Amino acid sequence: LIELHGVNKWYGDLHVLQNIDLTVGKGEVVVVVGPSGSGKSTLCRTINRLETIQSGAIRLDGRPLPEEGRALARLRADVGMVFQSFNLFAHKTVLQNVSLAPVKVRGRRRDQADTRSMELLDRVGLTSHASKYPAQLSGGQQQRVAIARALAMDPKALLFDEPTSALDPEMINEVLEVMRRLARDGMTIVVVTHEMGFARASANRVVFMADGRLVEDRTPEEFFTNPRSDRAKDFLSKIL
Ligand code: ATP
Ligand code: MG
Repeated sequence: LIELHGVNKWYGDLHVLQNIDLTVGKGEVVVVVGPSGSGKSTLCRTINRLETIQSGAIRLDGRPLPEEGRALARLRADVGMVFQSFNLFAHKTVLQNVSLAPVKVRGRRRDQADTRSMELLDRVGLTSHASKYPAQLSGGQQQRVAIARALAMDPKALLFDEPTSALDPEMINEVLEVMRRLARDGMTIVVVTHEMGFARASANRVVFMADGRLVEDRTPEEFFTNPRSDRAKDFLSKIL
């Protein structure tokens, strides 16, 4: 579903993505780990074309990523992204946050979008909060709204960049539970996370990045019990 071939990206002199090859099949859950500054967020952002690349190819469903215009908007709808900071619209209610893009980008009727949004809010356990504003919700609840908002576009894949890093510990699990359920339901997911329990339980593959390189791409069992590279061994010894 998502394919990267020989992707290179520089920020000035910094070679932030170095010859990245990565394929994510339909329904796969790929967890991306690695030290700070290794390029994990940049990788996610290139897949959604929030960043441009200097060489290589990225394909979604076998097609190159669109450059601009309506096709690019559709790509962003097809590949939903959930960030560490929830990025909700503060002056819109929970329901309005979820329904906005389906109406504006997908051209859905407002009442139909609202009906679907309520279903999605039910899926993330927030129906009773639909008419509240983001500031009235906890961080975990806001992040679940952000997930419902991404799902409202019927994405082919979801990218998560450290979705639980800004949350208090007791709220992390409610967000992970939503992600675990999406994974079980067959959503294609790429997630940058330090939640190794999630990686072990829900990932099909763990991708380890260091210094802009994709150093390992293995099953969770292989990665956690028998990392090949010294970089990965060193990383795991610090976090486990
Ligand atoms: P973290 O775990 O801290 O989130 P990361 O693996 O997500 O790190 P990136 O955010 O992808 O790392 O950044 C990779 C490198 O690119 C870092 O050295 C960072 O300083 C640099 N970088 C990121 N964004 C920019 C930018 N817009 N301009 C210049 N350099 C950038
Ligand atoms: Mg990052």
